[in-house]
Amino acid sequence: MVDSIKSSKEAIELEDKHGAYNYHPLPVVLSKGEGVHVWDVEGKKYYDFLSSYSAVNQGHCHPKIVGALSEQAQTMTLTSRAFYNDVLGVYEKYITEYFGFDKVLPMNTGAEAVETAIKICRKYAYERKGIPENEAKIVICENNFHGRTTTIISFSNDEGARKNFGPYTPGFIKIPFNDLEALENVLKSDKNISGFLVEPIQGEAGVVTPDDNFIAKAKEICSQNDVLMIADEIQTGIARTGSLLAVCGNCSCEGKCERQEDTYTKPDMLVLGKAISGGVYPVSAVLADNHIMEVIQPGQHGSTFGGNPLGSKVAMAALEVVVDENLSQNARKLGELFRERMEKFIEKSESVKLVRGRGLLNAIVIDDTQESSTAWDICMALKENGLLAKPTHGNIIRFAPPLVMTEEELHECCDIIEKTITEFEKTWEK
Ligand SMILES: *Cc1c(COP(=O)(O)O)cnc(C)c1O
Repeated sequence: MVDSIKSSKEAIELEDKHGAYNYHPLPVVLSKGEGVHVWDVEGKKYYDFLSSYSAVNQGHCHPKIVGALSEQAQTMTLTSRAFYNDVLGVYEKYITEYFGFDKVLPMNTGAEAVETAIKICRKYAYERKGIPENEAKIVICENNFHGRTTTIISFSNDEGARKNFGPYTPGFIKIPFNDLEALENVLKSDKNISGFLVEPIQGEAGVVTPDDNFIAKAKEICSQNDVLMIADEIQTGIARTGSLLAVCGNCSCEGKCERQEDTYTKPDMLVLGKAISGGVYPVSAVLADNHIMEVIQPGQHGSTFGGNPLGSKVAMAALEVVVDENLSQNARKLGELFRERMEKFIEKSESVKLVRGRGLLNAIVIDDTQESSTAWDICMALKENGLLAKPTHGNIIRFAPPLVMTEEELHECCDIIEKTITEFEKTWEK
């Protein structure tokens, strides 16, 4: 018999007893979601301001996406790539046209897609650039987050993510984020560099937003040095930052034309995950043009579930929702509103130092240390007041609601945040 949960306490005890401690969740047990809202086991309703780390941009249980899942689930779920199926090609055409690349390599999780991009980049280095075997290097940024595999954590500088998981994969060079000079110097000084892997905005690091021209200039420097720029848009992509992709930058297209030539920086490889399935099913992808993607030949890379018909249908539905419901434009408009309200609040707040972000990927920084528990304490108080958010560090809280939020709801959420922090400040001992 499978137990059914009757209280939050019971669910937490079960996880404590039987699950590995690889997360430290806020003590709330969710059992239902719809749009921008989630409900706990006791029936309390919350605004979701994490959106499952930006996987649920389209809102919880979007009927169109769930509909696509349920229809395909009753027809065909998995064929493996040993055979063709009648959905994958349709999906591949759809997603490559959607993002403007020749080809896609479908995977499941974000980390797998990053690994895939690293493998393609290395193979390209040996077979197209003539870098001596096993010498290729990839430049990455300080405070990056690209996932949890052994290779990816090898180039993390988060001690928690890294320590005692060695030996580490070699071949990565770290430079500061948002530092064009460092990029230029390192590319000039080492002929064996094959790629630059970068998040257009560093989400896990605390929504660290670079200068407006950083990505465009970085791409120029990469091109001049014949180095592939790999954009990890797993968190920033799919309308989150107010344009379809964060590499669209602060363009003036209002999110309508996502690839205006003068504002869109086209990376050599685009890595997507999270919201390409609207949080309904694990789907990830690497997109690139032919001259890069063709280094992968049969038998050289793969995944049992990658490109399965169920995930493919879900991803198409999820990407359609982004366009149908103008999610880029909405994220852009609401993001401006959010930062305006927070900036006004900061003028009179004793604890909040700054707000930063783009679109609906934002964070506030509290005047305390990275090791403090202040952000956690505020998140606990926000939870009591009906809003769920999570710290990225001891003093940083990320705010990333589903993009289907209305203006009225956003104002209500800002009211909750301001009220909660104001109350918190009355008892705050720094
Ligand atoms: C979440 C995330 C990943 C890893 O995705 P998983 O699906 O958790 O493996 C990689 N890069 C970035 C920028 C992310 O936000």
